[in-house]
Amino acid sequence: MGRPTADSGVNVDEMSAARRRSETVARMRAMARAAPAGRPPTAGAAPASTERCDICHTTVPDDHRHMLHLVERTIMCTCEACWALYSGNPEYRPTGMRTVWLDDLRCDAETWASFGIPIGLAFFMRSTVTGGMVAFYPSPVGATESELTLEAWTALVDANPVLEHLEADSEALVANRLSAPAQYAIVPIDQCYALVGLIKSRWEGISGGGALEQAVPEFFTALRARAVGAPAGRV
Ligand SMILES: [Zn+2]
Ligand SMILES: [Zn+2]
Repeated sequence: MGRPTADSGVNVDEMSAARRRSETVARMRAMARAAPAGRPPTAGAAPASTERCDICHTTVPDDHRHMLHLVERTIMCTCEACWALYSGNPEYRPTGMRTVWLDDLRCDAETWASFGIPIGLAFFMRSTVTGGMVAFYPSPVGATESELTLEAWTALVDANPVLEHLEADSEALVANRLSAPAQYAIVPIDQCYALVGLIKSRWEGISGGGALEQAVPEFFTALRARAVGAPAGRV
């Protein structure tokens, strides 16, 4: 599809928002490529690299925290000290802290179809950059993006008020409709990057193979183990 040209009257803000969105996807793809695949390092690669804080470069444990750089739209690995120091900085946003398992989320086939997502696995994020809801779904090449219509998302939120409190940029709703029953959770946004990387690294053949049959169920089992249930009662 052709890109709008500058003289076709396209709103400049829309163009730059579109560019930023494509940059977000590009970064997610880069992160997916960089994600540890559980494979032995290739010959000549550095030995199992210890991760470092992206701010002060101290080494960090595997389960370190992450922050979003809102201007550059990047996810940064951070040590505890930098995380505390930069949490109040307006350019940074800590990734979400909570994992909430949504056992009774209601999303019928019609609502799901309105999202236009070609696979039963996706995550949904409110973006302060675009001002809208963005869905990402995994594929062999990393994350693919789809912008939701306000109507489609509003219908889901109306049926599930718990989603009103999804924190912009730092949390996502993850939906796994490949399982029966379907699984839903609110997760820190870095978990979505982890899932994208996992799927890419385990993708087999045309249909996904082990990535979708094993890696995804394992990911959701682990997610559920550390999740808390949805708050009792409708908010
Ligand atoms: Zn640090
Ligand atoms: Zn990290």
